[in-house]
Amino acid sequence: MNLDVSEKIDTDLCVIGAGSGGLSVAAAGAQLGVKVVLIEKHKMGGDCLNYGCVPSKALLAAGRRAQIMRASGEFGIVPTSPSINHKGVHDHVQNVIAAIAPNDSVERFTGMGVRVIEAPARFLDKTTVAAGDSHIKARRFVIATGSSPMVPPIPGLDMVSYFTNETIFDNQEKLQHLIVIGGGPIGMEMAQAHLRLGSRVTVVEALKAMGKDDPELADVVLKHLRTEGLDIRESTRVEGVEGGAGAIRVKVSANGTSEIIEGTDLLVATGRKPNLNDLDLDAAGVNFDRRGIKVNSGMVTSNSRIFAIGDVTGGLQFTHVANYHAGIVIRRAIFRLLTAKVNNDIIPWVTYTDPELAQVGLTEDQARKRFGKIKVLRWPYSENDRAQAEHATSGMIKVITGRKGKILGASIVGEHAGEIIQMWSLAISQGMNIKAMTAWISPYPTLSEINKRVAFSYFAGAAGSPLVRTAVNWLAKLG
Ligand SMILES: Cc1cc2nc3c(=O)[nH]c(=O)nc-3n(C[C@H](O)[C@H](O)[C@H](O)COP(=O)(O)OP(=O)(O)OC[C@H]3O[C@@H](n4cnc5c(N)ncnc54)[C@H](O)[C@@H]3O)c2cc1C
Repeated sequence: MNLDVSEKIDTDLCVIGAGSGGLSVAAAGAQLGVKVVLIEKHKMGGDCLNYGCVPSKALLAAGRRAQIMRASGEFGIVPTSPSINHKGVHDHVQNVIAAIAPNDSVERFTGMGVRVIEAPARFLDKTTVAAGDSHIKARRFVIATGSSPMVPPIPGLDMVSYFTNETIFDNQEKLQHLIVIGGGPIGMEMAQAHLRLGSRVTVVEALKAMGKDDPELADVVLKHLRTEGLDIRESTRVEGVEGGAGAIRVKVSANGTSEIIEGTDLLVATGRKPNLNDLDLDAAGVNFDRRGIKVNSGMVTSNSRIFAIGDVTGGLQFTHVANYHAGIVIRRAIFRLLTAKVNNDIIPWVTYTDPELAQVGLTEDQARKRFGKIKVLRWPYSENDRAQAEHATSGMIKVITGRKGKILGASIVGEHAGEIIQMWSLAISQGMNIKAMTAWISPYPTLSEINKRVAFSYFAGAAGSPLVRTAVNWLAKLG
């Protein structure tokens, strides 16, 4: 135990980790008049702001601009091969982070009345945390320490330099041939961004790329990415890595055949591991395993005074999930609503490739396993007038309902899928029936009209037939 403690703090709520989840709890707590201590060992804003959502979307946005220049021919505008200033792209990404950073800053939280301590936190016992020179006792603790890149034990990987999400956004140069290990959302987003910014890119995935999404829709994305020039190797294992700066050799094997892929740079995007190391969870009586801290549906750990939220709990790892967890903690810890609990069936997620892939509720497979008889509704972007105007016709919506029309899930692949999915998030969270999705007026011409069209197809029959599609189009227009 540290005997040089200069300060002993007694507080209502002590939050460990100032990322998406921790900041939300701290801000809500302080605004509700609760005494809050927030402890952060590295950068305020956590992964999302500094190494995750924000820089990745900024990089994708730069790639999108470049691609628009190359693909303008269909609009009658002479296409051009963009000249990319990689230092400029880096600065754009960092400027976006800097523009958002004040929202998450020490100053902002101190201004709200939160006591911010910038140091690693470690439990001393079940009711005390040490951070810097302070010992903090709290009525409730919230562990929101997030996750880090999980680097697999690939032979030779420790001998070469490679990027992870924590370093790739510092790059200021063109990566001639980037090899991405991992075909999940992070790997695929980074692969497309770099491809569009002029790199040659190869993705190596041991199983199926974008394997957590509905395969029918994931295939639309993969096909599009391949058309753009991305080399995606699925069912391919990485057996070893060797080489030096600018000359990386990745040994892969697929179907019993080995091959060497030669590239200049390597990005490891093979999943995440929970940030548990510094915490001394045993001292706190908090159970965990290699996936993360174990919590019940109210985000309570094995120590009833301690909650854990966000990536560190090892479930769906998204910023909006960490925020959702934060809301449950606030309801329980401050409003004493002990019935507040997580419903994983209403959580949406989006992969921000172009085309985007968005999902909420159950996928077709999940719904079939759980309910047996379901209805699957589909509607193509190509039947949407706005999609035609934008030359964005490659995409579809797929909606899953129960036998009586209860909406169980929705998946969208295509332009702005992440925006269009929002009303299905509402519908599923409110337990709505597909009938309600026919009873609203959609401004014309918008991509979101596909939501109404697909709902009408529930009543009209299979959307595959041109006759039915025409009928649905006219019915939907009637409002
Ligand atoms: C490349 C990439 C892109 C992503 N894109 C998206 C996206 O588009 N949309 C989306 O929803 N999600 C996205 N995510 C996921 C998202 O970033 C995370 O789900 C989210 O940041 C989790 O929030 P959190 O509060 O659990 O953890 P974090 O935001 O990681 O915050 C944890 C904080 O705890 C601190 N900490 C750790 N240990 C200690 C300790 N002992 N003491 C004190 N502080 C500690 C860390 O320094 C960190 O600041 C992306 C992730 C990556 C890597």
